Amino acid sequence: MLNYASIDVPFNLRHTCWFCGEPSHQELTFPIQESDYITHMPLAIPACDECRIIAKGTANVMRAPESIYDLKLQVKNALMKRYAKHLGIGENWTKEELEETTLDGTAFKGFTDSAWAMYEIAKQRADFNGWDLYVDGMELDILDDTYAFEFEGKKFASFDSAVEFFLRAESLNKYLFEGLVDILGQGRFAYALKIGRLYTGVSRREANEILEEIATQEADRKQMLSQEKLHNNLKRIDAESISEVDIDGVSVPAEAIGWAMSRSINNLEKLEQSEDAFFEQHEHLGGVGAFHLFNGLQVYLHARTNIDWALEQDPNHELWIK
Ligand SMILES: [Zn+2]
Repeated sequence: MLNYASIDVPFNLRHTCWFCGEPSHQELTFPIQESDYITHMPLAIPACDECRIIAKGTANVMRAPESIYDLKLQVKNALMKRYAKHLGIGENWTKEELEETTLDGTAFKGFTDSAWAMYEIAKQRADFNGWDLYVDGMELDILDDTYAFEFEGKKFASFDSAVEFFLRAESLNKYLFEGLVDILGQGRFAYALKIGRLYTGVSRREANEILEEIATQEADRKQMLSQEKLHNNLKRIDAESISEVDIDGVSVPAEAIGWAMSRSINNLEKLEQSEDAFFEQHEHLGGVGAFHLFNGLQVYLHARTNIDWALEQDPNHELWIK
């Protein structure tokens, strides 16, 4: 029989579940199975019935938690999964929006009032962060080295559990969203979610079209990034110190000059070689805007071939020869 040390409970938190903040009348003993390995002394923690049952099941569903923080993350995730639909109310609506729908008529009233209350309860439980762990007044020195995928303020036990959570919480199109996640990966989860939220009611065929487009987009983006990297022994240039230049009525904005300078593009030949990269990176300005900038750079670099002009008239001359 292990010797479980009861954690200290602050006076204002008596009978409170350490995991979720709900009322608690019992303690959970941890490790769950006496034979489980844990990284610290065996503990007894106040827990509500629901969290206690979830905790006892963790080893079967996932893996035996090795520390109390590990256990907490798993319990929280199980709660989030269970109450994903409730939590989703807050993802999909604001309180004001829900209140506005109640103004439209009485039909919604009951639904929205209780919906918001359910959301708030679920959110409070998901956000509750327990309290610091002490036993007999001594702080426990337990390292919290749990890995969590954090997104929009939520901590998920893994990336997959985040995907699953948003699928449920927001009733996303499973086929489309999982496809997006495959293409965009963990690093671009926000973008996957943005697209997934836009197209919840699409057919398989429409989803395939969207996925195809995103895949193309992503391939282009990767190619551009690698091109950029190639160009990139980007020199660090203080953008503030660059001045706009005006040559015979053609104005060359400081940003364009900074773009060339940081890539060591200091003559017309190098500018020509970088033409494609320039237009890709200035696509957002539209064709005419980008061309205007490029032309400005051509005029400027041409002017700089005149040493006298460069020395006497170019306010950026010092920066070029740095
Ligand atoms: Zn609880």
